[in-house]
Amino acid sequence: MRRKLAAGNWKMNGTATALAELETLAAAGAQAQTDVLICPPSTLISRAAAISGSVAIGGQDCHANASGAHTGDISAEMLKDAGASHVILGHSERREDHGEADADVRSKATAAWSAGLISVICVGESLAEREADNTLDIIGGQLAGSIPDEATGENLVVAYEPIWAIGTGKVPTMSQIGEVHDFMRTQLEMRFGEGVGRSVRLLYGGSVKPSNATEIFAVSNVDGALVGGASLKAADFSAIITALDAA
Ligand code: PEP
Repeated sequence: MRRKLAAGNWKMNGTATALAELETLAAAGAQAQTDVLICPPSTLISRAAAISGSVAIGGQDCHANASGAHTGDISAEMLKDAGASHVILGHSERREDHGEADADVRSKATAAWSAGLISVICVGESLAEREADNTLDIIGGQLAGSIPDEATGENLVVAYEPIWAIGTGKVPTMSQIGEVHDFMRTQLEMRFGEGVGRSVRLLYGGSVKPSNATEIFAVSNVDGALVGGASLKAADFSAIITALDAA
């Protein structure tokens, strides 16, 4: 059985006052079937880790190298040292804003695993790719290119995030989500074997809200969510966690 995962990506949002939202989540305590992860900006990781209780803390990116002359970057070791247990890699905003290619994501995942972090690797198609009926080709290529060979159910989480659904309020149909998640499961089983392929958690991300969470979590092979905007407020994220735990 895969444990469920509700992951929040705060992106470039939050100063010290935002930690009150995390405190509220932490006060709710551990969930029966659901792990909870918050990925705040790097500046808040150590303070977040000090108060997060059963909520895991993650970074939003890391460099592929352990250290060196990379001004402004952060290594997986540094995230781990600050108290992170996870790192989001290959988010579409990193792929678009920073030109990250699948090979970059793969190198970063290797670095994350060397540091003992769990990688949450993001994949997703653009609207043009969806409209051209290329979604599964795109997702298959990103999975093949971004995930290193050493993947296991313990060190890898995959998030399917259609780019056109992120922050837009647009959500694919449940059958579109199911098609991609079933496809991803099959791809992982074919490459890594049934044992590993079945144990990797698959998250959906893109405009998940309390109002649509229950419907999304009923889709096959959806093991949780990667949530942007609705993770910034504890009340909204708690409602999503509750829906997931009940699914
Ligand atoms: C995200 O950025 O990973 C995301 C899913 O954002 P939102 O929930 O705001 O669409």
